[in-house]
Amino acid sequence: MVGFPSILEGIKDLDKGHILQLLERAEDLKSGSPARLPLQKSLAVATSFLEHSTRTKHSFAMAIKRLGGFHIDFQAENSSLKKGESLEQTLLTLKYQGIDICIIRTQQSHLLEEFKGHPPIKIINGGDGSNQHPTQALLDLYTFCDDFGGIKKLEGKKITIVGDCRHSRVTHSLIDLLPMFGIELALCGPDEFMPQEIAPGIKRIVDIDTAIQESDALYLLRIQSERHNSTHADILNDYHTHWGINFDKFRKHKKALPIYHPGPANIGVEVHEEIMDSEIWKAHKQVENSVYMRMAIIEAMINNEDHHIGHANKKVTGDICEGKSQHDI
Ligand code: ASP
Repeated sequence: MVGFPSILEGIKDLDKGHILQLLERAEDLKSGSPARLPLQKSLAVATSFLEHSTRTKHSFAMAIKRLGGFHIDFQAENSSLKKGESLEQTLLTLKYQGIDICIIRTQQSHLLEEFKGHPPIKIINGGDGSNQHPTQALLDLYTFCDDFGGIKKLEGKKITIVGDCRHSRVTHSLIDLLPMFGIELALCGPDEFMPQEIAPGIKRIVDIDTAIQESDALYLLRIQSERHNSTHADILNDYHTHWGINFDKFRKHKKALPIYHPGPANIGVEVHEEIMDSEIWKAHKQVENSVYMRMAIIEAMINNEDHHIGHANKKVTGDICEGKSQHDI
């Protein structure tokens, strides 16, 4: 896709046009359309997950395979990063070894920002700290389209994210993405798990009953304990009673809603097992759709016609070596 970014750090790197094309392409790929990759050789991807992952890592692996490519798993802990090499030099090495795209997950938020002006290699963010998880939000939007009858039908739909919104990179990406398409987004959960500042246009719902009454769908989150400074034992002890979803809560309102979850889900905490065994549980569909959306994202980045990749350290040396051209040095 011409103009598609070479570093996809977050949703704000994309415009509405890019997103609409990704949705359309994901749907085509799901219907069996062949990959469009004008590479001389097969697609080569390095995946580097510096934080735990099951779904994202394997979904990317499937997407790469379905595009006719292959991936190498780059193990940072056994690499030259451990010998003091900078991440930029490591990425340049991968680029000149013939890697087309690198997919990086890291505990550190905003790690990719520094590469945007001069990408050493094309990079997709597979989740950085609590900052962004753009591919998850995009596959979620694709799944909402599937369930609600297309992007236009999403206008005015009310989706509430329930749980640890403050520490969730998925939430931050959804906040940037869903309002672009007229979705009315709300956040619900304990005060301690709400963002310190809530973006304009995003509603705060203070209890789960109101969330059920007012929403068209719920998006549940795992408690992101790995990013907490304190144990929050008081909240966690009776989390399911106050914030967890089960059929009793729906019966009270004579209403059931589709339930989305980025995974991994903690049974008996944010969701009761009975919900996961029922047709309102949409997480399996999210996982299925993830492969097609990630295929579309990789394809769009490969075809973005950015020819300035990998030249991060090319500085003009003419002023140092007077009278000689750069090529003589
Ligand atoms: N899998 C998602 C992420 O990597 C959600 C989670 O871990 O709770 O952010």
